[in-house]
Amino acid sequence: MSWLNWFSPGKLFNLYADRTVRCVHCAGPFVVPGAAQVLTCPNCYKRVRVDDVVVTGSQIHGRVETCGSVVIRRGGRFQVEVLKAGMGLLVEGEVRTAHAAAPMVVMGPAAVWHGDLQTAKLDLHPLARITGGRFRVRPDRMKAAPGGAP
Ligand SMILES: [Zn+2]
Repeated sequence: MSWLNWFSPGKLFNLYADRTVRCVHCAGPFVVPGAAQVLTCPNCYKRVRVDDVVVTGSQIHGRVETCGSVVIRRGGRFQVEVLKAGMGLLVEGEVRTAHAAAPMVVMGPAAVWHGDLQTAKLDLHPLARITGGRFRVRPDRMKAAPGGAP
């Protein structure tokens, strides 16, 4: 199964299916009901956000941390000081951030990225534009990613 499948709209919007998320604090995986938004992580007992965040239009936030996925749709503009996505980050629009972290990051052909990024796996479309920021890609941290290393 391609790991891109996590980002399929069917999964993102199926509110009734249980799904696995990964804690933004301890990286521990746990299963949550699809409709859950905030839960206590069973691994580190911190209160964490677990919903998937989908950005359309223009949004400005100080800090967004979720154990789920964050998707910036094409045409979306996301200005966020700190961005953490426990499952992954899909960028089809524009992101401006001071610091972002996710186990895997996909940037599509219309993506525009500005800011620091820390990830274990980066899938960068040739047409994606990086306008600034430091990237740290550490494949060894792939173990913390859903599906795991082979
Ligand atoms: Zn945790």
